Amino acid sequence: NQKPVQVKLVLLGEAAVGKSSVVLRFVQNDFQEYKEPTIGAAFLTQKCRLEDKVIKFEIWDTAGQERFRSLAPMYYRNALSAVVVYDITSSSSFDKAKSWVKELQRQASPNVIIALVGNKLDLVEKSEENEDYLDDVASFDQNAVSEPSQTHSRAISRDEAQAYAEESNLLFFETSAKTSEGVVEVFTEIAKKIPHE
Ligand code: GDP
Ligand code: MG
Repeated sequence: NQKPVQVKLVLLGEAAVGKSSVVLRFVQNDFQEYKEPTIGAAFLTQKCRLEDKVIKFEIWDTAGQERFRSLAPMYYRNALSAVVVYDITSSSSFDKAKSWVKELQRQASPNVIIALVGNKLDLVEKSEENEDYLDDVASFDQNAVSEPSQTHSRAISRDEAQAYAEESNLLFFETSAKTSEGVVEVFTEIAKKIPHE
């Protein structure tokens, strides 16, 4: 039995991108369609067992609202890892994520591990599958398929975010807190990058 390595992790990102939902999925494997906004910050812990070590994440889930912005340094100052979340259907949330990354790279600890997370993948996945399908049938019979009923469309392509993450030295993931796709991977990949004690 190994003693867990404690790792402080902070979540940052615009309000309503799904920070608390990603944490809720990771910690309790649960999702709430109407999640109440976080006030100030919430604290949760969860362990991540790897083959050679156990990481205990001490998670600070911050509020995204502008009026809480001045509190953020308190949470990221001695964090070993940061998860910066945006909503893949919102380009303003991606801009906001980039500004958090910049701030972290200037102000947080120099060896902080940063993961960029594009959340709400479920909102676009259905319509993207549909588009592929429409491409396939387009030359065959235009009238065979009705328009997809999805109202959400992707604002930030996976390629654009991936390229930005690479040039900025970030881990990168797309997730859905709703379906749980990709969520555990975020924390597992961060855990793998934590140096042994
Ligand atoms: P936060 O302000 O960044 O912590 O965002 P919340 O976790 O409070 O989520 C804001 C809203 O988005 C809530 O209504 C959630 O149910 C919803 N939400 C969060 N993650 C997802 C997701 O992956 N897919 C969908 N469809 N909705 C999500
Ligand atoms: Mg929240």
